[in-house]
Amino acid sequence: MEFESSGRYARRLTRQIMVGTVAVGGGAPISVQSMTTTKTADVEGTLAQIYALAAAGADIVRCTCNELEAAEGLAQIVPRSPVPIVADIHHQYKMALAALEAGVHCLRLNPGNIRRPEHIKAVASACKDRGVPIRIGVNGGSLDEKLYEKYGGRVTPEAMVESARIEMAYFREVGFEDVKVSVKASNVPLMVEAYRMLADDDFFRDDQGRSVPLHVGVTEAGPLPTGLLKATAGIATLLLEGIGDTIRYSLTSDPVEEAKAGRQLLEVLGLRERKGLDLIACPSCGRAEVDVIGLAEEAQRALGELNIPIQVAVMGCVVNGPGEARDADLGIAAGRRRGHLFVKGKVVRVVPEDEMVEALVEWGKIIHSEGVEEALRRADHGAAEEAARDRAALLDAQGADANQVGQRIEVIRRL
Ligand code: SF4
Repeated sequence: MEFESSGRYARRLTRQIMVGTVAVGGGAPISVQSMTTTKTADVEGTLAQIYALAAAGADIVRCTCNELEAAEGLAQIVPRSPVPIVADIHHQYKMALAALEAGVHCLRLNPGNIRRPEHIKAVASACKDRGVPIRIGVNGGSLDEKLYEKYGGRVTPEAMVESARIEMAYFREVGFEDVKVSVKASNVPLMVEAYRMLADDDFFRDDQGRSVPLHVGVTEAGPLPTGLLKATAGIATLLLEGIGDTIRYSLTSDPVEEAKAGRQLLEVLGLRERKGLDLIACPSCGRAEVDVIGLAEEAQRALGELNIPIQVAVMGCVVNGPGEARDADLGIAAGRRRGHLFVKGKVVRVVPEDEMVEALVEWGKIIHSEGVEEALRRADHGAAEEAARDRAALLDAQGADANQVGQRIEVIRRL
């Protein structure tokens, strides 16, 4: 894997397209997409969901445009939406033209569903005239029957990429290249392979060697938590290979979960700046001096409400905790009914166990408003020494082998 000096994974070179105000590809930040589940004709209900999705991290939102009422709804939704809107088009090409009339910022066409070349080219020409891009959204589950047969009655990566090529060739006939492509499948290894093949395919490159921007996702990933795992496995694998310009989690859940997951994945991979809390916690072990799971959940709730971009560590013991979490902005380690509060690994206060979460919130606010240096300057006099005494006392009491591994092995050997 290539690793750029910036700490980000080297991304494949792609052209840039604009979905409304959001740049996709060409080195733009990877964007998060989701899709509304309301009837698009329900303007207020759909807008409420779009606002919720945008607040949860979606940069672009897709709405179905499956009937005239939906297109009419889009005409009212688009001007009031906080993010660009993509119209999802399946069987009727006229719905694509109606969505363009409604002012959408992008179309998604499924090549398996609109098959007549004259219809495909009419839509591409209309998009070209209006400067609206199209996503060629190949889906393993709705592949053109002919391709399905050609590849032995199976959905293969080759068949999916060929479907995108055929569609792209029609677009090129009318001089339209303002495209992004997806080759989604619900089978993770299959979609990963299809995207790799697509990213390597010279057919999609321009004369400067740039490929089309790719929209990455695992389709029909299913309900939580398995759906989340499936989608993450597929999307993260590709992002770490530098493949992907925009992503969508397709979960059988409230779409807000999709937007949150997309945003969080990008933050975890260091591909987007952190907007909110990143809570890390130890898994707990025999040394734990507190209910780590309960404490972490409580801290997540209290700090999550602050909505500040801070990394906070919750550690079960003072023996290893502060050291293991020294990179966190703020943390707490439990020991002898007290918590050692630390900033960048340095103890700043020792608090009673029942005040640990309160102390995290107070110091989280200080770090956010005044910075780490100021927080360190405010460290309680003597806190570090007090913490060191607690730590030494615990080590004395527990020894180096808190899980009594040595003792257990002795017993096993005597059996
Ligand atoms: S040693 Fe301490 S910090 Fe590490 S897992 Fe155990 S309780 Fe948590």
